[in-house]
Amino acid sequence: MKVCYTKRELMEETARLRREKGPTVGLVPTMGALHQGHLSLIQQAHYENHVCVVSIFVNPIQFNNQTDFQTYPRTLEADLKLLEPIGVDLVFAPSANEMYPAGHPIESYDFGPLEQVMEGKNRPGHFNGVGVIVGRLLKMVEPDRAYFGEKDYQQIAIVRNLVFQLNLPVKIISCRIIREPDGLALSSRNRLLTPEQRAIAPNIYRILKASAEMCAKARCSDEVAPVKRFVEKAVAEIPGLELEYFEIVDGQSLQPIRTWFDAPDQVGCIVVWAGNVRLIDNIRYGKF
Ligand code: AMP
Repeated sequence: MKVCYTKRELMEETARLRREKGPTVGLVPTMGALHQGHLSLIQQAHYENHVCVVSIFVNPIQFNNQTDFQTYPRTLEADLKLLEPIGVDLVFAPSANEMYPAGHPIESYDFGPLEQVMEGKNRPGHFNGVGVIVGRLLKMVEPDRAYFGEKDYQQIAIVRNLVFQLNLPVKIISCRIIREPDGLALSSRNRLLTPEQRAIAPNIYRILKASAEMCAKARCSDEVAPVKRFVEKAVAEIPGLELEYFEIVDGQSLQPIRTWFDAPDQVGCIVVWAGNVRLIDNIRYGKF
C-alpha cells in the first residue's frame, strides 16, 4: 500500500497502478478516523475495481463550525494500519496547503434546490466545500467509480449533480448505512460521545424505525405531518438529545413532501445533537 501526500505523487502512482494492475480505479473519499462504515465502501471498491484508492482529508472548507473542525478526530496512523490488510493500493493524505494552495481560487458551485434544504440550509457553505474537494479528487484520480455512504443521503445527490455539471465519466456508487448492533449509525464523531451520550444515541434510529412503522400503517394520501410531529416529540422526550431537524423528503429531489403520495420514494432525514456532537441519520420509507 502506497501513501501519497502530494497531487503529483497521487497522479503518478495512480497511472502506474493502472498500468500494472488493470484499467479500472475505485475511489473512496473520506475524512479519516475510519470505522466499519468506511471499510464497507472500501471493500466494495476493492472488489469492483482493479485499483482501490482511498483519500483521507479533513476538508476545512466544508466545516461551517470551527469547533467541529478543530475537534474532528484525526487518527492517520491508526487509519493506515486498518487499510493495509484490506487490499487498498493507494492512500492519498494531503495537507490543507496541498489541496488549497494560497492564491488558487476556490470554485463556486450552484446545486440549486438540492442545497436549499436540510444540510445545505443549516450549514451554509458546506456543500460548496464538499463539491470543491470531491470535484478536485475526481479530476486528479479519474476513477471509474467513486463510493459514498447513504448515511450522508443529501451528499450523494449533491455529488451526482456535481458529476453531471462537470461532465465527469465516473459512476457514483451509493452504499448502505453500517450500524452498531444497537442501531447507531457508525460515524467518526461517535468517538467524541461520552459514555452517557453513547448510551442514549441509539434512540435516534429507534425513533426512525418507529416512524417507519407509522408510515407503513398510513394511507398513501395521508399527510406526512403526523409522522414528523411524532419524531419531533419523541426526540424532545429524551434528555440529552436535541433535534436540529427532521424532514420527510422526496428521495430524488430532496424536497419536503406533504403526503406519502408526493414521491415514489420517501426518506426521513434527521440531525440530532448529543451535547456538542452532531449526529446524522436517515431512513428510507419506500411506501410504494
Ligand atoms: P466521512 O469520513 O464522514 O466524510 O465519510 C466518508 C464516506 O463514508 C462518506 O461517503 C460517508 O457517507 C461514508 N460513511 C460514513 N459513515 C458511514 C456508515 N455508517 N455507513 C456507510 N457509509 C458511511
